[in-house]
Parts: sequence; C-alpha cells; structure tokens
Amino acid sequence: MPAKGVELAVTADVVIAGGGVIGTAIAWRAAQAGLDVTLVDPERGDAASLVAAGMLAPVSEALFGEGALLRVNLLAVARFGLFAAELEEAAGHQVGLRREGTLAVAYDPGDYAALVRLTAFRRSAGLDAEELDSRACRKLESFLTPDVHGGVLFAADWSVDNRRYTAALRAAAARAGVRVVRDRVTEVLTRDDGAAGGRVAGVRLADGGDIGADRVVVAAGCWTGTITGVPASARAAVRPVKGQLLRLRHPRGMPPVITHTIRATVRGADVYLVPRADGEVVVGATSEERGPDRTVTAGAVHDLLRDAMSVLPVTSELELAETCAGLRPGTPDNGPVVGEAGPDGLLLATGHYRNGILMSPVTADAIAARLAGQAAAPEWEPFAPGRFDTEGVR
Ligand SMILES: Cc1cc2nc3c(=O)[nH]c(=O)nc-3n(C[C@H](O)[C@H](O)[C@H](O)COP(=O)(O)OP(=O)(O)OC[C@H]3O[C@@H](n4cnc5c(N)ncnc54)[C@H](O)[C@@H]3O)c2cc1C
Repeated sequence: MPAKGVELAVTADVVIAGGGVIGTAIAWRAAQAGLDVTLVDPERGDAASLVAAGMLAPVSEALFGEGALLRVNLLAVARFGLFAAELEEAAGHQVGLRREGTLAVAYDPGDYAALVRLTAFRRSAGLDAEELDSRACRKLESFLTPDVHGGVLFAADWSVDNRRYTAALRAAAARAGVRVVRDRVTEVLTRDDGAAGGRVAGVRLADGGDIGADRVVVAAGCWTGTITGVPASARAAVRPVKGQLLRLRHPRGMPPVITHTIRATVRGADVYLVPRADGEVVVGATSEERGPDRTVTAGAVHDLLRDAMSVLPVTSELELAETCAGLRPGTPDNGPVVGEAGPDGLLLATGHYRNGILMSPVTADAIAARLAGQAAAPEWEPFAPGRFDTEGVR
C-alpha cells in the first residue's frame, strides 16, 4: 500500500527514479532548466540503454498500424542532431552519431516480396526509400554477398554509439549538478492535500530512507511495475521484452566491413548489423517474451551469426567480443508512456520499447516542458499514461 499523508522535508525539486538514457536525459534537461534534481538508480549494470544497438531508425522501423509512433519517432530523429551536438559540448566527448542511413536487404525472392510490401507502406506514409538491385546494394556495401536479392536504402535513418551516448548523458548531468543516489526506489510517497489521489511527497528507497520532493519522475524502464504508488494500470502495462545481441570487434588494420546500418531478412528471419567508428559491428537482436530472464543462449548466438554471415560473410573474420541480453520496456501498443499520472506531481517516462535511445531527447524535452508547467509537443498526446486505464489493462 502506498504511504498516505506523509510529510517529508523537501530535499529536491524533482526526484527521478531510473538512470538509463531516459531518466538521465530528463535529469540533465531539468537541471539545465534550474531545478534541483536527484536521480536514484541502483546501477546494477543491466539497463537496456547499455545493451541496445543505437539505431535511430524511424523509417526502417515503421510498421503497419504504428502511425502515432512513427510521428513521434520522426520528431525524435529531427531533434537528435542538435541534442547530440549540445551533449557532446557539455560532456566533452563524442557520442558516435552516424548519418549514413539504413540499407535493408532481402536474401531471397520471398524476403524481397516482404520488403517491397513494407516499402510501399513506408512510401505511402511519406517516407523516402530508394529501391536497389543486388549490384547497387554491393556498390554501397562491397562485402555483401552477391546472393542478396535486392534492397532498399532508407537514407533518413541514423545511428549512435549508445554506450558513448549514455556515458555522455551521465557526464553532462553530473556537470549540471544532478545528485545521484545509488539505491532503488520502492515507493512513490504521497500526502493528502484534499485532491483525489493526493499529491506527491517524495520517494522511499530500498535502504529505508526517504527523499522529499514535490515532483517525481519514474523512468525505470521495464522495472516500472516494481514501484508502489505508480498507478496500477501503468505498472501492468510495462513488461520486459528480452533482446539478445552480439558485438563483433574489428581486427587492427582491417578496413571497416560496413558503413551503413544493414537490416537483412534471411529466409524470413530479421537480423541487423550496426557499424561503429572503431569498426565494431553490433549484431542483433532477438525479441522474446520471457519475463525478466537475461540468459544468453547458444541458439540465439548461433542464429544471429548464421543470418549475419549469410548476408555479410566477412563477419566470420571478426572477433566475437561480447554476447549480451537486455530487457526492452514493452507496452501493449508498442508506444511509450510519457506524461502525468495521478497523484499530482507524478510523471512517467517509460515504455520506450525498441526506440528508447532514439526517443530520449524528445522525451527529455516533453518532461522538462511539463516540469516547467508548459505543454509538450502534440505528437505525445497518444502516449499519455491514462490511455491504459480506459483500455482496461490490468
Ligand atoms: C537488444 C536491444 C536492442 C535495442 N536497440 C535499440 C536501438 O537500436 N535503438 C533504440 O532507440 N532503442 C533500442 N533498444 C531499446 C532501448 O534500449 C530502450 O528503449 C531504452 O534503453 C529504455 O531506456 P530506459 O532508460 O527507459 O530504460 P533502461 O535503460 O532499462 O534503464 C532503466 C534504469 O532504471 C533503473 N531502475 C530499475 N528499477 C529501479 C528502481 N526501482 N528505482 C530506481 N531505478 C531503477 C535501472 O537500474 C536502469 O538503470 C534496444 C533494446 C534492446 C534490449
């Protein structure tokens, strides 16, 4: 049961629960706006933000039935460049932003037919796509196998090195004066001020201490549901979706094997390969409904490598540097959960599922606007936390 009628000394303007890319970007922005910010995160090293591939890919991620998500993702990629430039300045190091686009390739005629259908849908949504035959694909990426049937270039997609980006956000937040508490929030505390649902009083920590604040932002990714005091419908709506992923290190002296992000469909299975400045190639990812399990399995590693090598045989010469698994914060409609959620003073910024790196700057803008008493961009309207109340998600 949430503690009611709590009176705490106010020790921060805002407490943020969760220090992945979402919570840290919000913390940085709020501190820049002059708020006194405390960020609470146990830093167990299992944040999805550190596992992710870092694609900023609204176009090649656009799927049937996700129009509202596409609009917020387009807003996000349009914002990313300026945000990243400001972040690099604030943190004093680069985040590895790349603007080469995504080359989607199809391995066989069946894969190609599916890609053509998706491309027609993306074009109908006003997105740029250039169809390429096998030879034109290999002109862009010379290590692709000649067996590739054909492809499509989605030039508006970008990518970022998510680990460098997360580190930069942490450095910028620290420089802006954000206080970090290494603990876990167990509960959002409220006090009774006569309003229905009460008003936020602060948070309770796993070590038993409390932090007083008038505003609390829950940005705990797939762990949002573990925090008492978050509305039950929102807690139930966010679930972990497991993704396994590999990092292939590039031997010294060998030229980079790809420059674009490559998304391949190989006999119906999807795999992506994302390049980094140092030649590393990130290969991902599975999508599994297994609750909080983060085991890396032999089968997933095998399948990802098999499909990657089918389209880019040279990957077999790279060093298998890392295998990992992370938990995407998924929701019933695949959209994020951003905005006010009763009690007064509680904001949620969670459920970013497969696009949280991409959406982190615009989420930070939206929450910073609300903390300043202003409206967020209209693209956020479909993603209010209250939408799950009416859908009866429990
Ligand atoms: C395999 C994989 C590939 C992906 N690829 C991409 C991609 O290419 N592009 C893209 O945009 N997105 C991608 N994503 C999705 C992206 O990683 C997530 O949407 C994003 O990282 C979510 O950020 P977050 O800050 O909400 O959550 P997280 O990064 O999971 O951070 C949540 C934080 O909350 C903390 N926490 C948990 N419980 C508590 C508590 N009770 N109190 C305080 N803190 C708490 C955790 O310690 C953690 O640090 C990928 C994800 C996976 C798994």
